[in-house]
Amino acid sequence: MTEAHVIVGLEVHCQLDTKSKLFCGCSTDYRNDGPNTHVCEVCLGLPGSMPVLNKRAIEFAMRVAKALSCEVLYESEFSRKNYFYPDLDKAYQITQYDKPLAEKGILEIDGDDGEKKVRITRIHVEEDPGRLVHMGNAERGRYSLVDYNRAGIPLIEIVTEPDMRSPKEARKFLNKLRATLEYLGVFDSEKEGSLRVDANISIKGSERVEIKNITSYKGVEKALTFEVTRQRNLLRRGQVVERETRHYLEARGVTQSARSKEMEHDYRYFPEPDLRPLQVRSWVDSIVLPELPDARRERFMVQYGCSVNHARTLTGELRLANFFEKVVEPDPAGLPALAATWIADILIGELNYRSMSLDLLEPATFTELIRLLKNGIITDKSGVEVLRVMLDQRLKSETTETPEVIVTRLRLAKTTGDDAALRTAIREAIAENQKALEDYRNGKAGALNFIVGQVMKKTRGRSDPAELNRLLQEELSKGA
Ligand code: ZN
Ligand code: MN
Repeated sequence: MTEAHVIVGLEVHCQLDTKSKLFCGCSTDYRNDGPNTHVCEVCLGLPGSMPVLNKRAIEFAMRVAKALSCEVLYESEFSRKNYFYPDLDKAYQITQYDKPLAEKGILEIDGDDGEKKVRITRIHVEEDPGRLVHMGNAERGRYSLVDYNRAGIPLIEIVTEPDMRSPKEARKFLNKLRATLEYLGVFDSEKEGSLRVDANISIKGSERVEIKNITSYKGVEKALTFEVTRQRNLLRRGQVVERETRHYLEARGVTQSARSKEMEHDYRYFPEPDLRPLQVRSWVDSIVLPELPDARRERFMVQYGCSVNHARTLTGELRLANFFEKVVEPDPAGLPALAATWIADILIGELNYRSMSLDLLEPATFTELIRLLKNGIITDKSGVEVLRVMLDQRLKSETTETPEVIVTRLRLAKTTGDDAALRTAIREAIAENQKALEDYRNGKAGALNFIVGQVMKKTRGRSDPAELNRLLQEELSKGA
């Protein structure tokens, strides 16, 4: 059985990054405050309180709808979705049901077999419920606390058609979606819990399984990969995949059947009586979109000569794309080639290794490092060393030295032919490796590389390989 038999559809909940909640004036900036400090009669759903729609949230949602080439409905409608759960004290969620804000869109991704258009079924606007905090261990809580600070935060729910064919494509869809939302200025992916995913997955010809409430980008691919294996193993043993809802246990990397059947409610949707139908006919056309990831990727290739892979990596995250452009700004003709390589191939890895945010590194400092490399002051190897020192200092909020200061302090400047230390190192390496020298003289060109390696070791990588080769040849011809 091949990957082509896997079918994945997603329902993605994204918090819109507005200042206030969807139906009241409470601040959405709740993450560093105590529980139940950002609440009022509206978001607590107290009797007699009336919701007032946040215009900004609708504008944000329409930006997303247009960016995903959706048809925005001129008139949409809010509905009540009735269910009881402690994080929803008013016992209904205001959402959109049969008349959502937008339908029928597309998001193009770099799929398993080239460019792929994932169809968007619908986008609707709804309020986030509160949050339960389980006390005791994760498996068996002693009791739970409820925090309504999150209740009423504006969400969009983006529902796709089952167009993805592997866990990897699902991850790529989410990465592209995240980039698009960030470019639109409506979403902050670094805010904890700002994106939650439900995934439907099946093996062609079998029932589908819904995995609920995956809260990390990596979690989606891992949960789906686990599910593909589980479902294939069932089928291989001649068993059937049952239609069910499962939870993803992040810490263990497995999905688990949701024991209770209470998940399948009759929600008794009905139109929200306290809100009029939402009419956007004269408004939707006035919404102008900024440059989006695909356009920026093309521009990076044309304007800076980036390779398609570098352009894709650099524009795949708004912060990264902005960082790159700030780094090369002082010299837009001279710096991009090196800067693209150093950011895409080296910096990202070093940041990930430290779980470090790019925001801690100033672009101007990085420009300085690129200049040292470009002007041949330091070797690539030393460049990595300087970068690591820079990042570690910023991560530990120590005194932050400039690249130049680090190069001087650690004596990393490239050695040159005039450098007595280099000449000494070459002579030493030759003297210590007579066997290799003999091999070289007997026509084994590779033996010279060994001696070069020894010199590099002695000079701690500060010597430029080409220059070193030249000096070594010179030294050898002298001796001959
Ligand atoms: Zn409120
Ligand atoms: Mn929803």
